[in-house]
Amino acid sequence: MSRAGWTVRVLTLFPEMFPGPLGHSLAGKALEAGLWSLEAVDIRYFASDKHRSVDDAAFGGGPGLVMRPDVIDAALAAVMGVAGPERAHPDAGPLIYLTPRGRPLTQDRVRELAAERQVTVLCGRYEGVDERVLEAWKVEEISVGDYVLSGGEPAAIVLIDACVRLLPGVMGDAETLAEESFEGGLLEYPHYTRPQEWRGRKVPEVLASGHHENIRAWRRAQSEATTRERRPDLWAAIGRHRQ
Ligand code: SAM
Repeated sequence: MSRAGWTVRVLTLFPEMFPGPLGHSLAGKALEAGLWSLEAVDIRYFASDKHRSVDDAAFGGGPGLVMRPDVIDAALAAVMGVAGPERAHPDAGPLIYLTPRGRPLTQDRVRELAAERQVTVLCGRYEGVDERVLEAWKVEEISVGDYVLSGGEPAAIVLIDACVRLLPGVMGDAETLAEESFEGGLLEYPHYTRPQEWRGRKVPEVLASGHHENIRAWRRAQSEATTRERRPDLWAAIGRHRQ
């Protein structure tokens, strides 16, 4: 097994959730081949009281519990190999906290993260993490969508999966990547395969014509129409780029 080129470290209360789905299919084969590596770190290990508590009641009241800054700080210090946030090495790579309050994850950011040597991901539970430890460690906050999950682990799996498929040697065909949704700011065109007619529905004629120029134009038009209809935000951003 060769040394992994891309490393992700996940701080979690549920290390047994990893690699989970990332141990299968494309990501799993790449993991086995040593193209990337994953280290799941148990946050509870860094709790210092006799009950190994990692959370406490929220100041200001409210029903939920909050993850303690001292425990998260100790876990981060151990993972980063430094005494505290003021010692964090600039080459340690991005430090990310997954939260619905974060900036939405985009394919552009995924591309940047996949180009790093190492990425560290903090998964929240309960109401989330005490704000001070996020400030102290200058953590980047990322959301995987405008909905609330019960924990950061599924979000971490989403982020890692999106990065891993971009790593060199993971996907066979670089052209596939170049034509996907979000490349060039558009959603992808629709796909069809055999049989050419199914339940009375025919594959668009142009796709079976063998006329590459017409196929390219048809796909481009489909991409544009779908993006305009489903994602006016993306469509508007393309318009701004062209101005
Ligand atoms: N109280 C938080 C709020 O309203 O923003 C939600 C906390 S959620 C129940 C528990 C954890 O799940 C969060 O700390 C975060 O790590 C993770 N999480 C939930 N939704 C997420 C999302 N959309 N993107 C990334 N992480 C998310």
